[in-house]
Amino acid sequence: MSRLLGEEEYTAFQQALAGRPHVGLRVNTLKIAPDALAERVPFVMEPVPWCPAGFRVVDGSRPGKHPYHAAGLYYLQEPSAMAPAEILAPQPGERVLDLAAAPGGKTTHLAALMQGEGLLIANDVQPKRVHEMTNNLDRWGATHLAVLAEQPRRLADRLGAFFDRVLVDAPCSGEGMFRKDAAARRTWTPNHVARCARIQEGILRHAARLVRPGGYLLYSTCTFAPEEDEGTIGRFLARHPDFAVEPIPPQYGFASAEPAWANAPEEVRGAVRLWPHRLPGEGHFVALLRRAEDAEVPSSPPRLRPRPPRGELLAHYKAFVEATLHEEPAPRDRLAVFGNRLYALPEGLPDLKGLKVERFGWWLGTFKTNRFEPSHALALALTQDDFLETVDFAADDEATLAYLRRQPIAHPGPDGWVVVTVDGFPLGWARRVQGVLKSRAPRWLSRI
Ligand code: SAM
Repeated sequence: MSRLLGEEEYTAFQQALAGRPHVGLRVNTLKIAPDALAERVPFVMEPVPWCPAGFRVVDGSRPGKHPYHAAGLYYLQEPSAMAPAEILAPQPGERVLDLAAAPGGKTTHLAALMQGEGLLIANDVQPKRVHEMTNNLDRWGATHLAVLAEQPRRLADRLGAFFDRVLVDAPCSGEGMFRKDAAARRTWTPNHVARCARIQEGILRHAARLVRPGGYLLYSTCTFAPEEDEGTIGRFLARHPDFAVEPIPPQYGFASAEPAWANAPEEVRGAVRLWPHRLPGEGHFVALLRRAEDAEVPSSPPRLRPRPPRGELLAHYKAFVEATLHEEPAPRDRLAVFGNRLYALPEGLPDLKGLKVERFGWWLGTFKTNRFEPSHALALALTQDDFLETVDFAADDEATLAYLRRQPIAHPGPDGWVVVTVDGFPLGWARRVQGVLKSRAPRWLSRI
């Protein structure tokens, strides 16, 4: 870096790396407006210039511990990581794929920008990380989202050029996270950089096949290594003449990419580097590519056909809805049963036969013997007004913490399902039995 940046800039870079990492949060605009959230929380925050829903937390508070985090009102994310989804700019109603999505930071951002409309597929190859991601996404409360755990090659073979926008937030050597993440420092070697560059090339090759003609592919890393940034994009362009770089304006302190650092073509200058010494965030690289309108592509896969619940299952579901909600949460013709789970399918979901699917859409609940049990995802995607009864606690009420810790809370009323809310925002289900609320907060929630 000293050679590439020159002595003066390298000193500033080094000083930035010796400083503290930024703490950031991005507001869930599916649930609350950024200003409204900022007024309610007890932390001091500064806006992130490139992300209207993003804030830096500047007073040392720990927003991850606040119950609003458990209610999905925001996602913890450092400011630079808020740039890729803003730059990809997905529109409501589009088909969008987040190909290396776990633990779901950028997926939550894409979901909010799409205002819950269209189809968003989040995918990752590591099962444990996919699991963590589904927890994060359940909390976020997006209803137009499916989750897969597939190899990019198999996705491209099955779905073809199906998506308007594809985001590849690639596995990388993580140099941009050095001041935030000690593991990134420990695992770094020159070989690791070379290995990451090879993996990125493979992922991008299949990602490209998933983009419709005229659609967009966004590539991002959190590393400074030119081999993985300008180098990976340069090699990609050489093999994919149907893609071109869409220049990203170098505003907000974003710096133009440096093609000469990796023997890449001049057009790669249209990508941007986010440097920790030039803006309030960690290190990132972002390139936006567009596929030619006249690219030849295979035909799209058929739609997945809904499999609505029938007979006894439908009766259990209807009984649950009548006892807890003002109306059915999703149109009947979107309902689908897979195994013992009930989902509401997102608009235009393709047939996913043969692929590893974690969520076919909005998970509404599970059929157990003789009853329907609601999911956490159902409560977190609805609002207080959707439920017949909610039990509301203030954020600083001890009962809120007791609920999240799955402790019983005395509360008179008839037996049955109720939703616990914090300042009016759903936190999760409880079962009231003989005047005691038994918390059904997921176990992972008490750990966040
Ligand atoms: N986008 C995520 C977010 O904002 O929370 C972070 C993604 S992380 C930088 C890179 C991800 O790539 C990891 O979760 C890793 O499991 C995944 N990954 C690694 N190899 C992959 C591959 N061949 N295909 C798809 N994902 C892969």
